[in-house]
Amino acid sequence: MGVRPGYWGRLFIKEEKATMKKMMKAISVGLALTMAAGVLAGCGGGSGSSSAAETGAASGAETEAASAEGGKLVFGTNAEFPPFEFVTSQGVIDKYDGIDMAIAKQIAEDNGMTAEINNMEFDSLIVGLQNGQMDAIIAGMTITDERKEEVDFSDPYYTATQVMVVPEDSDIQKASDMDGKKISVIQGYTGETAVQKLGYEYQSFKKGTDAVNELVNGKCDVVVIDSATAQKYVSDNKGLKIVEDKDAFDSEQYGIAVKKGNTELLDKINASIKKMTEDGTISELAAKYADTDTDTATSESEAETAAETAAK
Ligand code: GLN
Repeated sequence: MGVRPGYWGRLFIKEEKATMKKMMKAISVGLALTMAAGVLAGCGGGSGSSSAAETGAASGAETEAASAEGGKLVFGTNAEFPPFEFVTSQGVIDKYDGIDMAIAKQIAEDNGMTAEINNMEFDSLIVGLQNGQMDAIIAGMTITDERKEEVDFSDPYYTATQVMVVPEDSDIQKASDMDGKKISVIQGYTGETAVQKLGYEYQSFKKGTDAVNELVNGKCDVVVIDSATAQKYVSDNKGLKIVEDKDAFDSEQYGIAVKKGNTELLDKINASIKKMTEDGTISELAAKYADTDTDTATSESEAETAAETAAK
């Protein structure tokens, strides 16, 4: 598979090399966001928000999704990616909670609409968007050249990188130490393409929790996954640590995806992202959810049980 460093990744490495070095030392939510804000500042903003009724009539896009009628804005996600999206007993949009969910809710509100979530496998999201099962994807989705051939992305709202989650006593100190080790990734994530690029064999899982359980149970040596999610797993599971290798893994920008040509919705999304970046909302959300215990309900069935228990 032809896997190249994303455009944004290269742009960053070029323009922010000095800053980058310092920043990548600590994979901190705050620092990541500062970078995203830097990109946004250089991007020029989207248009101002306009009325809800217009959204459904987006130029170049069918209006299959419910955006016009009933003022709904349907976001597709894969709620297996804390702190960005996870299932809980009471989230910001129904049972869905996390940084992305709060952003989605705000985008809808900015346009006088209500956000709805269509939760599906990460790998199915782009096809789902193309089939009109959602208006936009918000799923901690990295902007990549390959995906840009299929969807249009918003301005970036978060900067991440791939990291290695290993047992505390692991001898893995850099990416090349993974040679000959049992590597786990999550299917369709950029972590998978990063490991492919390095040329190592790996096993892939449908869910981050499954890969991490494999690691906790000693059945694999390392899980390659996005930084903020890795931090969540490390704080939720004893005996794990994060190993970074900034030479092996590019920085990645998360964007919201819309159907190709849906510039009207994209402009609205960009306007909201710009506002939420500039007024500090996204930084606040990132800090808040980094501290939120997302381990209380990591699967849909557990959340439903929790919700039922709470209702009694
Ligand atoms: N950022 C990674 C990607 O885009 C993982 C996203 C996710 O699992 N939600 O592939």
